[in-house]
Amino acid sequence: MTPKFLAAVQMIERTGAQSFRIGWSDEDDGEPTVWYATATWGRDPATGRPMPKGGRLAHEAAAAIHPEQAVLRLCEQVIDGGECSHCHLPTIFVPDSDTEVLDLIGCVYAWDPELETFRRGCEGDEP
Ligand SMILES: [Zn+2]
Repeated sequence: MTPKFLAAVQMIERTGAQSFRIGWSDEDDGEPTVWYATATWGRDPATGRPMPKGGRLAHEAAAAIHPEQAVLRLCEQVIDGGECSHCHLPTIFVPDSDTEVLDLIGCVYAWDPELETFRRGCEGDEP
């Protein structure tokens, strides 16, 4: 597992997911093997915010030929179009670290190769 893979899983946790699972297609399905990543959130019916337990359950899933790509796609699906809980700008997930243009239109969650994590745009240089 690569640092980016682990960081992407942590990113899913940071969105308030109650559970996360990664798996692959049945051998009997034939080639190619397809990896999937799926997570479950429980939202407060009143506010729509994720709750640590209970709430109205919602699932998301993404698939790819490589496991890391599956998790990154799930991050994209879940984070793109959300709202940053810190700066309230629309959130954009970028699987790499090139964010120059996107920084102008929202809060970009991008890969930080030095810290080996995904950092939000409004985080600045604080640890
Ligand atoms: Zn932000």
